Amino acid sequence: MKKAVFPGSFDPITLGHYDIIKRGISLFDEVVVAIGVNADKKYMFSLEDRKRFIEEAFKDEPKVKVITYEGLTIDLCKRLKADFILRGLRNPADFEFEKAIAHTNRTLSKIETIFLLTAASTSFISSSIVRDVIRNGGDYRRLVPDSVMLK
Ligand code: ADP
Repeated sequence: MKKAVFPGSFDPITLGHYDIIKRGISLFDEVVVAIGVNADKKYMFSLEDRKRFIEEAFKDEPKVKVITYEGLTIDLCKRLKADFILRGLRNPADFEFEKAIAHTNRTLSKIETIFLLTAASTSFISSSIVRDVIRNGGDYRRLVPDSVMLK
């Protein structure tokens, strides 16, 4: 079974993430969306909310699982018996950043990182821009799946 882990903060999930996950399930038997827990990071949405937004967005898609994790992504992959990490690339800055991580992961393990170029229509979206729009009262709903709701 070809299993991929799609790691990230998903604070919150955006239409860009959604596109990568959708396309990922056409390539893999299972895509595990793994929300990383970093004690030093301040998040806008709680871990529970971030998880729920993704679960609801993919409630009709049995090939998508959502979990939370701490520690190295390659250790998570080993625990789950996943041979692949899935990541999205938006621009050259993403590429430079991701290249270093992928090389490191390949040095430390056999896990391959598979990159999908973002859809042109969502390549400008980032969770940090969505958070900015939310903080300033803008219409964030065009940037995220319908499951992302403010309380
Ligand atoms: P991280 O904190 O690890 O950067 P993110 O939740 O911001 O977590 O991103 C997780 C993954 O989703 C990364 O591979 C990132 O490149 C990808 N991604 C983020 N925004 C988009 C987008 N608009 N289109 C496609 N992929 C995206």
